[in-house]
Amino acid sequence: MSDQEFKRALGYANSAFELLKRSGIPPYPQFYELLYTYATGVNPTLNNRINEMFRNGGSPTEGLAEALYNEFLKSNVNDRMTAVSKRMHDRIEAVHDAIDSAMTTANAYSGSLQSAGGDLEREISAAAIKALSAKLLAETRMMQETNRSLEQKLQDSRDDIAALQRDLDDVRRESMLDPLTKIANRKSFDEGLDTAIAEASSSKEPLSLMLVDIDHFKNFNDTYGHQTGDQVLRLVAMTLKSNIRGKDLAARYGGEEFVAVLPFTDIEGAITTAENIRRAIQAKELLKRSTNEKLGRITASFGVATFRRSDTAASLIERADRCLYAAKHAGRNRVINEQELVNAIPATGKGKASAA
Ligand code: GH3
Ligand code: MG
Ligand code: MG
Repeated sequence: MSDQEFKRALGYANSAFELLKRSGIPPYPQFYELLYTYATGVNPTLNNRINEMFRNGGSPTEGLAEALYNEFLKSNVNDRMTAVSKRMHDRIEAVHDAIDSAMTTANAYSGSLQSAGGDLEREISAAAIKALSAKLLAETRMMQETNRSLEQKLQDSRDDIAALQRDLDDVRRESMLDPLTKIANRKSFDEGLDTAIAEASSSKEPLSLMLVDIDHFKNFNDTYGHQTGDQVLRLVAMTLKSNIRGKDLAARYGGEEFVAVLPFTDIEGAITTAENIRRAIQAKELLKRSTNEKLGRITASFGVATFRRSDTAASLIERADRCLYAAKHAGRNRVINEQELVNAIPATGKGKASAA
């Protein structure tokens, strides 16, 4: 984390803390997260809602803060995961019960067979044999019935467990996606980059990283509203995704920042890809969905860096981030790669992209 980033994050933390004190909302971690998010401004809709409350003279009560937290920040992935694992647990219990009861019946049946065997070894009357066979027949029927019911229960469980497996896969997939743009989220990017670095280190194949930040997006939001801003984020995400290859990973890095991990790609390849995406974004004429109003065009700036043996994920991101900062500095709507960086900007880590 650069000094600048540290100061910025500390500023958000202080504002969140001040707001907690002023509003009298209990300083629990989830409410701190809520007001920290407010302080960063990354979620304009959330900020509008909180501003409205402050404007109306009141301050958010605990109940309102809870509702906002649930609506904007709480991940329902955890709840769904808990529900799936509870169903899984109940199913396994039911199977255990069915097996236990089948075993009890089987034991009783085997006891009856043994005692019948003993009886038959002695000389017994025809009437007694008749009674014995009637008893064994009844118990065999019961045993068959128990087996049938066990079979049915196992079949039901098999179907249910297959459905649970599908639910679990859905939840897992969803937990890796950004809800707004439906491309990979920060968490899957972090994991994907680590894997790509490990693979590049052992295979000696090149690996590049591209950071993208939409230009003057705050202005765009202020002019056309956040809903339209959200549409633009989806459009940029799709443009990014459709201009990379199968092995590449496109992710939303934060607010209006995106990232692409490009395995088997050297710096030239990464620059070409970034240029293609830059041009594709610039070429899109934006229309407001509801009214077909023309909204002009947007542009984005790019920072491109290539993996070095000595790199960690953080140092690679930092270099791409410095390129991105240089691209902004040089007038935006351009790609800067690390080879151009050497003379352009001192290596002090004054990055533009923020992790907050
Ligand atoms: P620059 O060219 O220097 O990057 O300028 P900028 O305005 O894009 O950068 P800045 O960091 O000042 O503002 C980023 C804006 O992105 C702030 C916020 O309004 C907007 N933003 C971040 N996340 C979202 C989101 O999820 N939806 C919408 N609609 N806007 C967002
Ligand atoms: Mg930004
Ligand atoms: Mg921006």
